[in-house]
Amino acid sequence: MPPSKVVLASNNPGKLREFSAILGSAGIQMIPQGELGVEEAEEPFATFVENALAKARHASRQTGLPALADDSGLCVDVLGGAPGVYSARYAALDGGEKSDLANNRKLVQALAGQQDRSASYIAVLVYVRSAEDPRPIVAEGVWKGEIIDTPAGDHGFGYDPHFYLPDLGKTASQLEPEVKNQYSHRARALRALLGALSGQ
Ligand code: IMP
Repeated sequence: MPPSKVVLASNNPGKLREFSAILGSAGIQMIPQGELGVEEAEEPFATFVENALAKARHASRQTGLPALADDSGLCVDVLGGAPGVYSARYAALDGGEKSDLANNRKLVQALAGQQDRSASYIAVLVYVRSAEDPRPIVAEGVWKGEIIDTPAGDHGFGYDPHFYLPDLGKTASQLEPEVKNQYSHRARALRALLGALSGQ
């Protein structure tokens, strides 16, 4: 039986909507951690799964409820998986601005002259029943695309204007939000998590 109340280790309203839309179908009510007075946890690790686990444990420890956390980013094959967990602050790593524009500029520069443009958006979700849960549920969603130099589209955020989907003939930024929410790495991870929770 899936749990009925779960604290979401994020205060991002977009994520709350997206997560509630999918998990609500299983009768799971998501409560953003801010509503329960939980402050944001540190994300000091080099992998998505470690950061998501740290955030989920923190929220569960503070509230006594089961908790769900996510960590996501862009991994570019020819860059050895960078920017990875540093996606939000890629340009800031070497003194640049912490902005989408600066991150995208750095990415395009890093790929100058490269033929291989394959990249994946990754979302890792971690669900813990309690802070001491010895068996967290981990679900990963992968959305494959290619990085293009010229941005296109007005929707989305982050790297979306440069993330081209050959099958759709569009960038993620050219997709309507509802369409992105069907294909995205987060949607894929959520569906996998729902499957795992339903089997509990
Ligand atoms: P977070 O997991 O929400 O903190 O996302 C980390 C960073 O990964 C974001 O700031 C973006 O740079 C990047 N990212 C994650 N998901 C997406 C997406 O759907 N579109 C564009 N960028 C994303």
